[in-house]
Amino acid sequence: MKDGKSMDLENILDKLDPDERSFVTELIERDPLTGVYNRRKFDRDLQLLVAMAKRTSKGSSLIFIDIDNFKKYNDTHGHQEGDRTLREVTQSIEGSLRDYDRIHIYRYGGEEFVVIIPETTTSEAYAIAERIRRNVKHATGVTISLGISHCTETSDSPDSLLEDADRALFQAKGKGRDKVQIYKDTP
Ligand code: GH3
Ligand code: MG
Ligand code: MG
Repeated sequence: MKDGKSMDLENILDKLDPDERSFVTELIERDPLTGVYNRRKFDRDLQLLVAMAKRTSKGSSLIFIDIDNFKKYNDTHGHQEGDRTLREVTQSIEGSLRDYDRIHIYRYGGEEFVVIIPETTTSEAYAIAERIRRNVKHATGVTISLGISHCTETSDSPDSLLEDADRALFQAKGKGRDKVQIYKDTP
């Protein structure tokens, strides 16, 4: 930059007044297609989740969601219809959650979403994931696979929490899709 300062986001945001700052922050943290938070925001919140989980009795859960056979869905119905379905899936996930959990939905990538549920045991997270699975299927006709990982005071890094949920998701796919799978060390 001209004045020699580094061009990082915090520096730029610091120059704005509070209204401008929250406007720009919303823009860079939201996914334009679905309206939920994006991966940038997720990466920030995941650090907080792990820190918070260390101070709660139940720990926190992470649900990784991936739409099944979505490539084929696009090929059959067209990309625009695929986009519409992505929005419907998002609404269905939102409708499956309590108000205060609704703020923790993120579009992680193309047809992948993550939900963070603070203060939740693994079995409570399983019940929520099952509700999401059923509701999405009923509302949209597409099926989803879901992987759950859990974070307690003894858990290690945010990265491993995401990796565990991703492994569980992979197992759910292997079991035939349209399934919820909890991560276990020895599957
Ligand atoms: P699997 O059950 O193993 O997850 O199969 P899949 O077909 O869902 O997985 P794959 O990763 O092969 O394909 C993901 C597809 O998601 C491919 C891509 O066209 C579609 N997709 C990703 N982002 C978007 C988007 O923004 N809009 C639409 N319409 N489709 C998208
Ligand atoms: Mg995928
Ligand atoms: Mg998929």
